[in-house]
Amino acid sequence: MSGCHVIFFGPPGGGKGTQSALLKKDYNFAHISTGDALRAEIAAQTELGKKVKSIVESGALVDDDTIMNVLKSAITKVSGDNFILDGIPRTIGQAEKLNTVLKEINKPVTHVIYITVDHDELKTRICGRLFHPGSGRTYHKVFNPPKEPMKDDITGEPLIVRKDDTEEVFENRMKQYNDTFKPVLDYYEKSGELRTINGSGKNVEQIYTEVKKLLGLN
Ligand code: AMP
Repeated sequence: MSGCHVIFFGPPGGGKGTQSALLKKDYNFAHISTGDALRAEIAAQTELGKKVKSIVESGALVDDDTIMNVLKSAITKVSGDNFILDGIPRTIGQAEKLNTVLKEINKPVTHVIYITVDHDELKTRICGRLFHPGSGRTYHKVFNPPKEPMKDDITGEPLIVRKDDTEEVFENRMKQYNDTFKPVLDYYEKSGELRTINGSGKNVEQIYTEVKKLLGLN
């Protein structure tokens, strides 16, 4: 067994996506997001996509067996040694099944990392976020503005504010995040595996340095 097999936890806007992208670029990590995988199935109108569409759109949880199948299919496509799991596990049942699945393929979880950020800082980050739909690039009105107002730096195409990046929806997403992940975080806390990075007041590079340290990378 070799490589880093990481579970990433963190609130919406906490920088998980940014850190995953850096690890992908610098160390060839595969980024497995069950939410992204489900959205791709829905867009392609597969049998699975049709089955989960209304559940995903309502924000409820897809059942554990379906999610584990999505995970297995994604993990068999990983070619390198390193991967990040994002959005899974969301229940204790998934955490237990995940252990079994990963042991079977001889890739047990090596790191469980939780990036925390203060509630108010998250709100500021999310509520000023600008999004380029074509590439997924994000900007921030104050902290990371585009070169030209409301235009993507690379393509010049218009930027949008995502419907879920408003203050009201943010509060709902935070509540849902806390309700869903708290028991799972407690599970990893009890098992002694959870490592927490306090991301408040830190920039991307500072957090990345801490992530790499935890993963033994430099
Ligand atoms: P995300 O992009 O991770 O917020 O996921 C979007 C949606 O996909 C969630 O609101 C759930 O409906 C579904 N989903 C993603 N991952 C899981 C999971 N591990 N367990 C159950 N449902 C999930």
